[in-house]
Amino acid sequence: MSASFHPSDELLVAYGAGSLDEATALLVASHLTLCPRCRSEVARIEAMGGNLLEELPPAPMGGDALADILARLDDAPVTLPPPPRKPARATASRAGSQIPAPLRAYLGGGLENVRWKRLTDGLEHALVVESGRTRARLYRIAPGIPIPEHGHGGAELTLVLQGGFSDHAGHYLVGDVACADDDTIHHPVADTDGHCICLAVTDAPLKLTGLVGRLISRFLNL
Ligand SMILES: [Zn+2]
Repeated sequence: MSASFHPSDELLVAYGAGSLDEATALLVASHLTLCPRCRSEVARIEAMGGNLLEELPPAPMGGDALADILARLDDAPVTLPPPPRKPARATASRAGSQIPAPLRAYLGGGLENVRWKRLTDGLEHALVVESGRTRARLYRIAPGIPIPEHGHGGAELTLVLQGGFSDHAGHYLVGDVACADDDTIHHPVADTDGHCICLAVTDAPLKLTGLVGRLISRFLNL
């Protein structure tokens, strides 16, 4: 299986630089376990970060900004998530069988550990983690049910973990990431052939703002 919809290059750079918030990093790390394309892209970005570190001049005394860059580059993840397991066969148990390892760490296991809360008919959710204003939630949507706007008009990233959904931009299946910002009008609807489970991050930083990320993205000509 390989995903057709991916996080933006800017998000991958920010992930490689270790400058994403916890909720967004969880979504990107989970996507990486399902997407060889983005795994190799992040490896390239991390190598670039290492080269950049070697080329930087020594930090001047009291130069907080540069020291911060160096510290953050030191903190950048140097190991990739474990490679994905073979996708479970259709006969395998649905529960937890395809939950990416980074997410399993938050859930303490598979989907059987999720304490779903009902939102409306056919729609349940569960908070996974929040960092500042950014939240990662799981959504479980019954077949054919529209996925609601999550309010407050912020940016949103949605990773499909089970089943699929469609919106104006396409049809998203397991491993795909849908990216929406304030200006995106989207009315996603779950596929009709089974429940759809997604990890959604709201108020996600869809554009790079960090200094390290901007430096690296300049070197990568993003
Ligand atoms: Zn990808």
